[in-house]
Amino acid sequence: MQKKENCKYIFIVGGVMSSVGKGVIAASIGRILRSRGCSVANIKADMYVNLDAGTIRPAEHGEVFVGEDGVEADQDLGNYERFTGQTSTRENYITTGQIYAEVIKRERNLEYGGEDVEVYPDIPKEIIRRIESCQKKHKSEVTIIEYGGTVGEYQLLPFLEAARMMKSKNPKDIFIVLVSYLLVPALLGEQKSKPTQRAINDLHSMGLNPDFVVCRSERPATPDIKRTISNVCSLPIDRIISAPDVYSIYDVPVNLEKENLGATLLKVMSLPSHQKDLKEWTGLANKIKKIDKEVKIGIVGKYFNFKSCKDTYISVIESINHAAWTQNYKPNIIWLDSEKYEKDESLLDELNKLDGIIVPGGFGKRGTEGMILTADYARRKKIPYFGLCLGMQIMTIAYARNVAGLKDANSVEIDPKTPYPVIATMEDQIEKIKNKNYGGTMRLGAWPAVLQDGTIAEKAYGMKKISERHRHRYEVNPKYIEQLEKKGLIFSGTSPDRLLMEIAELSKKDHLFYLGTQFHPEFKSRPLAPHPLFTAFVKACLNKKNKND
Ligand code: GLN
Repeated sequence: MQKKENCKYIFIVGGVMSSVGKGVIAASIGRILRSRGCSVANIKADMYVNLDAGTIRPAEHGEVFVGEDGVEADQDLGNYERFTGQTSTRENYITTGQIYAEVIKRERNLEYGGEDVEVYPDIPKEIIRRIESCQKKHKSEVTIIEYGGTVGEYQLLPFLEAARMMKSKNPKDIFIVLVSYLLVPALLGEQKSKPTQRAINDLHSMGLNPDFVVCRSERPATPDIKRTISNVCSLPIDRIISAPDVYSIYDVPVNLEKENLGATLLKVMSLPSHQKDLKEWTGLANKIKKIDKEVKIGIVGKYFNFKSCKDTYISVIESINHAAWTQNYKPNIIWLDSEKYEKDESLLDELNKLDGIIVPGGFGKRGTEGMILTADYARRKKIPYFGLCLGMQIMTIAYARNVAGLKDANSVEIDPKTPYPVIATMEDQIEKIKNKNYGGTMRLGAWPAVLQDGTIAEKAYGMKKISERHRHRYEVNPKYIEQLEKKGLIFSGTSPDRLLMEIAELSKKDHLFYLGTQFHPEFKSRPLAPHPLFTAFVKACLNKKNKND
């Protein structure tokens, strides 16, 4: 393990405004350092009081990303995994709520030796303890900590203070990267640096000066702007980095390296400089731009009342991308709100124009009838269908109703009074639901499954034992398994004790691809290693497309 004094910490903080891709910059810095031989761990620290992201509405906060150990985290952890290959655990995710909960727990255990416990310094000290415990867990040479929000925000103060305390103790090991935005007022048509200067002043008022400033903007930062910013924080010009808008997020590490960020970072951190190895990554980033053939995939979901559904389904979108790109296709993703099919079933015919359909994860009743109609339509019209968690439960319900003749079959989550509860509450969830014990109590994280020989699933994975990440309370009701199987539904993946149904599918002779998973395969797809089920699904979509063309 690294000696503690050798460990480096990079704090990524935002300036001017949020949603400018700070997470992708943090992930890209991780990728760049890894490609130069450093071991890295990425942490996301969110400012909210929630203990985790698990109880936040997807339309409010975006996707809940699930780690191997079941942590329900911010979607940025997904980008860290996709960019650096990190396997996220609880240590990689911090919230204000967790910090306070831990301090209060220790106070109750008399661990403060009778002293009064104060917001200052006990809260920043706990933040530091958490950051260092992540470093220990992952034995990382460089630990990258992304702070949610932007400097100047009230709730960020204890977190910035934690960085300052660490820096004053070990000035050679702590580095601050400010990711700021250069506004271009339409009236002027030129980049303005004043808001970024204000953000730097805000950092100064916390006793911190950035070591790098990454300038997000539509276009590269002009030399004038770079000079102004470098003056304000007394930094050499090579520490002011341009990060213009790019074709895909996978261009970001490549672009940052064009600004020589990797070598400069290593020099500033006094770490040995290795040759970079970004060849495969750059190859993919360049290839994406040249792909012109399209595969049309519909996502039939319900969390569309947000500015952009891209945040809600980010891992699903990226998994489709990864799989399609390896087949030299680019996906054209069509967002379809399931509720419209409930109002007018004839609209279902629009699904015929698609090469494939995904019904992703979700909770609650709203929109589910439309999803059930979708799953049935996809089966009848032989449109490739891929159900993710809720999507697998939906296809089971549709099959029960329309093939097994179980009229009004449903999930008890959707209709507690259904005559045929083909999806039932998992045994260990009954008490939790009764006590309204909802936070962090689902069946979460990685669980093993075994696959049946000769099935679509087993052929796609090319192995019999798998492990995938979960997040659910309901399951295929064991009472109906035999009945559904007799009618042709194949449970091709189960828990090793065979009690829990993990994958449902129709035989290849009945359908090109009609498959659902109780787990979330989307959390494990990587740009250079697409998930085998997404690859199998996209291949089926291309089969259909090329037949029709
Ligand atoms: N609501 C369903 C359950 O709890 C599906 C969950 C999901 O899609 N992640 O089982």
